[in-house]
Amino acid sequence: MAAAETDRDAPSALCSEFLNFSAKDTAAKWLQVSNLPKEVYQHLACYVPKIYCLGPNLNPQNEDLLAQLLLQSPLEWYLCGEEPSVGLAKLEQNNQPSQLCGHVFKVGEPTYSCRECAADPTCVLCMQCFLGSVHKEHRYRMTTSGGGGFCDCGDTEAWKKGPYCQKHEPNISDSSQKDPLANLSDEMVARTYNVFSIILKYAVDMLTWEKEDELPEGLEPPARGDTYYCMLFNDEVHTYEQVIYTLQKAVNCTQKEAVSFATTVDRDGRKSVRFGDFQFCEQAKSVIVRNTSRQTKPLRVQVMHSSIVAHQCFALKALTWLGQIIRYSDALRRILCQVGLQRGPEGENSSLVDTLMLCDSKMWKGARNVYHQLFMSSLLMDTKYKKLFAIQFAKNYRRLQTDFMEDDHERVVSVTSLSVQLFTAPTVNYERLQSDYVKDDHDREFSVTDLSVQMFTVPSLARMLITEENLMTTIIRTFMDHLRHRDLQGRFQFERYTAQQAFKFRRVQSLIGDLKYVLISRPTEWTDQLRDKYLEGFDAFLELLKCMQGMDPVVRQVGQHIEMEPEWEAAFTLQMKLTHIISMMQEWCASDERVLIEAYKKCLSALTHCHSGFTDGEQPITLSMCGHSVDTIRYCVSQEKVSIHLPVSRLLAGLHALLSKIEVAYRFPEQLPLSELSPPMLIEHPLRCLVLCAQVHAGMWRRNGFSLVNQIYYYHNVKCRVEMFDKDLSMLQAGASMMDPNHFLMITLSRFELYHIFSSADCRKRYSRENANKDVVQQNNTLIEEMLHLVIMIVGERYTAGVGQVECSDEIRREIVHQLCIRPMAHSELVKALPENENKETGMERVIDSVALFKKPGVTGRGLYKLRPECAKMFNLYFHHYSRADQSKAEEAQRKIKRQNGEDSVLPPPVLPRFCPLFASLVNILQCDVLLGILGAVLQWAMEPSGGHWSESMLQRVLHLIGMGLVEEQQHLIGSAEDNDTNFTLKISKPGEAPANTPSILALLETLQNAPHLEVHKDMIRWILKTVANIKTTRECTASAPPSDSSGHSQEETVRDKDKAERKRKAEMARLRREKIMAQMSEMQRHFINENKELFQQSLDELDPSTSTTLEHSPSSCDTTLVCVGPRRWRAGGSERRQVVTCILCQEEQEIRTDGKAMVLAAFVQRSTVMSKNRKRPPHNPDKYDPLFMHPDLSFGTHTGSCGHIMHSHCWQRYFEAVQAKEQRRQQRLRVHTSYDVENGEFLCPLCECLSNTVIPLLPLTKTSCSSEQPDLNQWLNITSLQMKALLSAHRKAKAADADGVDMDGVNDCPPPDGFKLDYTPKNLYSSTIKEMLTTFGTATYKVGLKVHPNEQDPRVPIMCWGSCAYTIQSIERLLVDEEKPLFGSLPCRQDDCLSSLTRFGSACWTVSSHATVQNHFIRLLAALIPDPRVENTPCILDIDMFHLLVSLVLSHPAVFCLDSSGLSADTAQLHFLHLVTVAHIVQILLTSVPEEVQMEQESGGAEREEEEKVCMLYNTLRTHLGSGLHEVNSGWHLWRCVKAGILPYLRAAALFFHYLNGAPAPPELHTLDVGEWEALCGYLCLPSNLLQLFYNNRELMEPLLHGWCSHPSVLQGLQSSVALIRFPRESNHLIELPGDYSALINQASSFTCPKSGGDKSRAPTLCLVCGAMLCSQSYCCQTELEGEDVGACTAHTFACGAGVGIFLRVRESQVLFLAGKTKGCFYAPPYLDDYGETDQGLRRGNPLHLCQERYRKIQKLWRQHSITEEIGHAQEANQTLVGIDWQHL
Ligand SMILES: [Zn+2]
Ligand SMILES: [Zn+2]
Ligand SMILES: [Zn+2]
Ligand SMILES: [Zn+2]
Ligand SMILES: [Zn+2]
Ligand SMILES: [Zn+2]
Ligand SMILES: [Zn+2]
Repeated sequence: MAAAETDRDAPSALCSEFLNFSAKDTAAKWLQVSNLPKEVYQHLACYVPKIYCLGPNLNPQNEDLLAQLLLQSPLEWYLCGEEPSVGLAKLEQNNQPSQLCGHVFKVGEPTYSCRECAADPTCVLCMQCFLGSVHKEHRYRMTTSGGGGFCDCGDTEAWKKGPYCQKHEPNISDSSQKDPLANLSDEMVARTYNVFSIILKYAVDMLTWEKEDELPEGLEPPARGDTYYCMLFNDEVHTYEQVIYTLQKAVNCTQKEAVSFATTVDRDGRKSVRFGDFQFCEQAKSVIVRNTSRQTKPLRVQVMHSSIVAHQCFALKALTWLGQIIRYSDALRRILCQVGLQRGPEGENSSLVDTLMLCDSKMWKGARNVYHQLFMSSLLMDTKYKKLFAIQFAKNYRRLQTDFMEDDHERVVSVTSLSVQLFTAPTVNYERLQSDYVKDDHDREFSVTDLSVQMFTVPSLARMLITEENLMTTIIRTFMDHLRHRDLQGRFQFERYTAQQAFKFRRVQSLIGDLKYVLISRPTEWTDQLRDKYLEGFDAFLELLKCMQGMDPVVRQVGQHIEMEPEWEAAFTLQMKLTHIISMMQEWCASDERVLIEAYKKCLSALTHCHSGFTDGEQPITLSMCGHSVDTIRYCVSQEKVSIHLPVSRLLAGLHALLSKIEVAYRFPEQLPLSELSPPMLIEHPLRCLVLCAQVHAGMWRRNGFSLVNQIYYYHNVKCRVEMFDKDLSMLQAGASMMDPNHFLMITLSRFELYHIFSSADCRKRYSRENANKDVVQQNNTLIEEMLHLVIMIVGERYTAGVGQVECSDEIRREIVHQLCIRPMAHSELVKALPENENKETGMERVIDSVALFKKPGVTGRGLYKLRPECAKMFNLYFHHYSRADQSKAEEAQRKIKRQNGEDSVLPPPVLPRFCPLFASLVNILQCDVLLGILGAVLQWAMEPSGGHWSESMLQRVLHLIGMGLVEEQQHLIGSAEDNDTNFTLKISKPGEAPANTPSILALLETLQNAPHLEVHKDMIRWILKTVANIKTTRECTASAPPSDSSGHSQEETVRDKDKAERKRKAEMARLRREKIMAQMSEMQRHFINENKELFQQSLDELDPSTSTTLEHSPSSCDTTLVCVGPRRWRAGGSERRQVVTCILCQEEQEIRTDGKAMVLAAFVQRSTVMSKNRKRPPHNPDKYDPLFMHPDLSFGTHTGSCGHIMHSHCWQRYFEAVQAKEQRRQQRLRVHTSYDVENGEFLCPLCECLSNTVIPLLPLTKTSCSSEQPDLNQWLNITSLQMKALLSAHRKAKAADADGVDMDGVNDCPPPDGFKLDYTPKNLYSSTIKEMLTTFGTATYKVGLKVHPNEQDPRVPIMCWGSCAYTIQSIERLLVDEEKPLFGSLPCRQDDCLSSLTRFGSACWTVSSHATVQNHFIRLLAALIPDPRVENTPCILDIDMFHLLVSLVLSHPAVFCLDSSGLSADTAQLHFLHLVTVAHIVQILLTSVPEEVQMEQESGGAEREEEEKVCMLYNTLRTHLGSGLHEVNSGWHLWRCVKAGILPYLRAAALFFHYLNGAPAPPELHTLDVGEWEALCGYLCLPSNLLQLFYNNRELMEPLLHGWCSHPSVLQGLQSSVALIRFPRESNHLIELPGDYSALINQASSFTCPKSGGDKSRAPTLCLVCGAMLCSQSYCCQTELEGEDVGACTAHTFACGAGVGIFLRVRESQVLFLAGKTKGCFYAPPYLDDYGETDQGLRRGNPLHLCQERYRKIQKLWRQHSITEEIGHAQEANQTLVGIDWQHL
């Protein structure tokens, strides 16, 4: 009660007080007072509660206005010392703005970053600046802003080049270093200072105020009422639904209100849900708390006094005001910064800015937003204060982050839950990790910590913060603080994390983001201080990595399967997040030699420290083989703990490679700490890790479950491998290069647990020794394969800078080559396969063109890169990043290409770059005794066909290794003779060691080359032997002949080979071509014979007297011209009438006959607005709507389509019943949806799976004849009018009889004319099955077209059928025009069959309806043409679509005609209908199509002079009837042009209609697009080509009709009304125009606000491509109720705009959305492509996108063809997950 009263009284009571208020006087008073703060506070205390928060419903406009007048205005007066508008304008004029753009981004606004010039990817430009910058010509990336952040235009540190756009280009005379305060008077500075400090302090006080019932000192209100708010806050715990439910209970609101409350809470962080006295609010609070306390934690609710809320409202307003004021002058901005950062009374960190920051997590979201905005526009815009602010921020960093971690006010009560439900397919973990990875700082956007990006990414600031505030260490330590769970060795342990901790863990990760920002730009110059602080940070970082070294260890499970999958994702997430940091740390080290060496030392000692705990208790053992022996520890991967996480080792591996690159490495190696290394220690853990992978491959770890499989997967995955697998390999290379290769290999064998196999003396006889356990043999085979692969990689992987002598670009080039060796790939596929750096760059663009050729995409598919043929020689079958699947695909592809080129399909190892000196000794592995021993053993095994003791891949690897040795030797020979110790050929020629004098490797190979079981390896063995021979000759000739000789010879040889192959290929192609031509010829012949046969048959038929009727059309008329309507029309002979079809279900043939079994076509009927000219017309009321006359705006129609597949009706019925039964069973069993709705009669065509919802019966052509004497129009009109009169009175009589004799006047006045039998009921000729199908299709059309329940008795059933026939023909006529196809002969069979059966059905459907009803329809239809006063509710001719009228008349006429036995012909009637409707249409066109401004007189060439005169006359006649309703027009030329153009679509549609109705073939002129269309059409339709003759030849009959039409009152009304008339021809509808550049759309969408939640940004702005409406999709705020269900904005829109079918563009996702009904939908590729010919669904890649007209036209065509629903059906059949999506929520 109290609430209501205050609400009403308050304004009036205050009005007078407000009116008397003078801002000027108040300001003047303030200038005098000594204690200004007190005075201002008093003012605020007095007025704020009177303006704000006076009732439950806030009125922001009113409040803002009052606040402006009473609160802000005096402040502005005080500040300016004069009229504020004048003072501020002066300020603005004197201002010299800084060159920063600083445009703050809205949510969803497009941002641009230059991939070439941006210092890092966080440097972005707004659209305006971008368009005016040099970068728009560069390679750029486009993204949408998440809100917050600002344009970096003008920031010289952000851009390597082009920091300014045209607008922000500084003028040369600019004095940017000058203090902006110099422009201001001292008094002004003092006043500004006063105002800012009072207001900022006030705002900070109020926003951080925590008491609920008390105000800060000085702000107590003069009068205090018992008015409170019950304030609800958001939290992390409760869901949207819980909040809505609770609110409905607690504050007694509707669901709608509750949704709106919850939405606001989500958006602003708090919302008052009740207003009233304390008791009243307290009560609501307790209900809410009680209702939600069952969950972990109740919702946070406060009961706050209204004056507090009022002050908080104004505090926000005041901050916004400050933000606006400082925009006028940089000086004001600087003063505000000073005020904000001034140290407060509590000493350090007590400035107002500090206070706000430190209270950040306690504030509600709305408040944070406002002050963050202010910070951005003040502190971050001022070069001087940005630095000071950054320091404060860094000082508070630890506390801010901690608060942020503990804060749980964010998110979960969030609309995003909708999208989670929609788009997180619960498929692979990979996706989930990826999405976490992508969504980086998602909920940080509302925390002050989010500002870090603005400071840390500025290189100079970052460096200062590192050196002065030790920021790196701070961040890392803060990070460590929050990961508290450790195991005994101090390693992280994620296993026991609760959900809450897991959530925190996600937030902790944002710290990594900060670290990334700090490191993102590498220093170009190092100071000693920076070195110190960096190394201190590096130490902290090593501490972090030490906690990861060895985490999540696994032990092989034997016996039982593990019970619970251990947690592994957290550790990998951490690893993934750190990947870039680790890489960046290395890059920093690489930029300074001293730092690198120091870091290397630190890393080494950290590793030593890690190892100290590991090796304890492991006993040393001695291994010996081939005369070498080594000591190592006893350790088995398969029995002990092993971990995949070794970041310390890997960091060291990275640094080692970097060291190898620097000069010191080979000049003064003694300066490096290499001597401290113990190679076996270095390799130990990486080797274990690789062995673990091998054993998992070998199936030894199956019982450890999927978590291990996943870990192995990620270990190799492109996101992780750079700092995992790759580094382990490098570490093995580093270790091996420092060891005796024999020792290294022995240790490797021992770790692979293969030592026992190769160390035994008779290892070459493995097959005889070890046949006990097949599984073990199999396992060992795989391990041997893996071990050999590892050796190949250690020797062969040289594409890491520092390991091999390569550049970074060589590495990328090689990656790309190997990807493209698998198959040609799209740009995005390649990007996905390559590792990205911290800037999300792969470096691919720099090298791609040197290795690949680009092929553009077509209308579908995408652009592809194909490997340049000359790059294939780089192919390495054992490329280390291939998975086994990749490897076999690549092998197959490469062999195929080689075979196609006619080359030998052997894939020898490629020539490799040289090693760097530090790694050079790795080559020796290839020729060391142990390896040769292993190779020899495997070759020996391969002598016997494999009984399981060796494998093909094992042998392949051995051959590859031998090949590598040979290639290496060849390289050495060609290169130089600097070291001649490489003599691989010699080594492999030596026989094996005693005791058994085994054959040499070479000898073995020579034997093997003829072994029948080694067919697949033969080419490789041959290659090896040939190469050996070559080398031998080279060695022999080195002294005498230059080595190039032999290679030249071989080159010549290959050239000759190639020639031969080419000739062979050409011959083969010629042969194929010949064969093809022969086949075509014989096909044509067959065709020809068939056609002739038909011709022959036809002539026979025509001779048959039984088929030709007595008085067929005279041959002269028919032979010269083909006519489709009227007595002279073409008539089908017997054979043409016969039609035999095959049922797709039972395969039986069936003739179409009236009395035969019914045959049906699968069909899909749908409502359509495709041709609508008025999308604003509200949908009809389905129960009352009278569809008899179609309005010319064609706003709603019924379209029928078919896939053209024919079935017996009984076969179809059986099929449909089976579908129904199956569906029922399915629903009972599991809740799987189907793409079609069986309950609605939908099914898929059994042949092509096309969506259908009914069937059309196929009917034969009706047999007609025509007597010679046919009445002319005059006679016919008389007869018809008599018939109508008789019928009408008969109907009235029947009606009256029913109604018991009321209103009998006029009855019996009209006796029927001769031969017209009113009581005659014709016999229905159709068989029962056909009748049944006639009803089925009629009812379906009625049901779908009107959206009603089926009712076969409804009088509207036949009308809907005629309407669908007319509408479908019209839409196809439009389609043919739009596609520039001729009217006849270009339709696909399915449409041809559909139209013909639809039309014939139309002419037969009256037989299954009530004849009286159809007759009545006919009477009403005719009355529209021949005005009849007895018929009511006839629309005027402006409101009738004439083609619909024609079709309905012709199709309803049989119901009247059947009563006539006087010998009249139906054809005559059709012709007269056509003539009358045509005249009516001409009149309609003349009435509507004349523009108001008549263009200048145009003289025609005289060819159509007659028409022009006649049309002028007709127009003037119309003017005499309508007077001022029509403009004066004298140009006959113009009028005739209007008529001709306007009527053409009608004539074309009529030609189609009569063609299908009467079966008359079309004249050849209509099969082409030639000029003679008009004459041909008129001839075919039996019309004079001067259509006006229709009028003038029967002028005396037409004049009264004309008069009748014009005197309809609606005509004049329509002409004079302001509503635009439909003009003819109606233009085809297009989908809306889309901009060429996608970012224009993003920009458009970013300024779009949700229409329902008051200016809030829409989360999923979605564009209707049909009408251009922008919608707020997929959001609670815009859900509406449709037919009793809540639906999203898109679904609701489709019902108004597209009769249930919708085509949308989801702008943020760059995705086309098709919707049909409430349950169907699919996504479709957008018509925007990037330069690589790819779409970017989800806008993830950010490449610039441009409109592809071809693809857009394809979508438009789908729409015009009415194929959207069908497309959805196909998409859903192909992808079942689409079926489960709740499309109606979009
Ligand atoms: Zn800008
Ligand atoms: Zn700019
Ligand atoms: Zn650029
Ligand atoms: Zn059948
Ligand atoms: Zn089909
Ligand atoms: Zn629309
Ligand atoms: Zn909305």
